[in-house]
Amino acid sequence: MSTKFKKFSLRVPFRFCPKCRKRLRRAERVFICKACGFHFYLNPAPTNAVIIRNAEHDILFVKRAFPPKKGWWDLPGGFVDFYENMETAVRREIREELGITITKFRYFFSDYNFYHYKGITYQTLDFVFVARVSRTQEKYLKPGDDAVDFAWFALDELPMSRISFPSLRAALRRYRQIYRSV
Ligand SMILES: [Zn+2]
Repeated sequence: MSTKFKKFSLRVPFRFCPKCRKRLRRAERVFICKACGFHFYLNPAPTNAVIIRNAEHDILFVKRAFPPKKGWWDLPGGFVDFYENMETAVRREIREELGITITKFRYFFSDYNFYHYKGITYQTLDFVFVARVSRTQEKYLKPGDDAVDFAWFALDELPMSRISFPSLRAALRRYRQIYRSV
């Protein structure tokens, strides 16, 4: 796990109770209103990312279309929606970002991460999966949704200094350790 982030340093600028408008008190992950008893908990947001490789064992990256980290390389994936399980969310994200449907993928790694967006910090819990695409599927890849482009990188030439999030860099380092020796 990354230790360079302080626990509970999440930037979440809620100051007043949405029910009674008195000042909120914050105790680490919970906002409390002493006046009316209102409680609001901060929870990590689950996300997914997929290490997709082709027949040559190159890895697929997408270029982020939007902040945070616009223009940086990312693994395809995203936030889990309400009423979705992780498998459904993986398939949906890959379909939206790459235009293909993946059926086989397996769990590989997880780490938490901090996602800063419009003055608020969200802590994500990133679940990283691995999958393969066939030569036929490769022809149908088409970047869409929040990906502007995609590219394949050889395992020894991953764009580590331009990869959007530390959790993904950690997953790729682990992946490289395992598959370099295969
Ligand atoms: Zn209140």
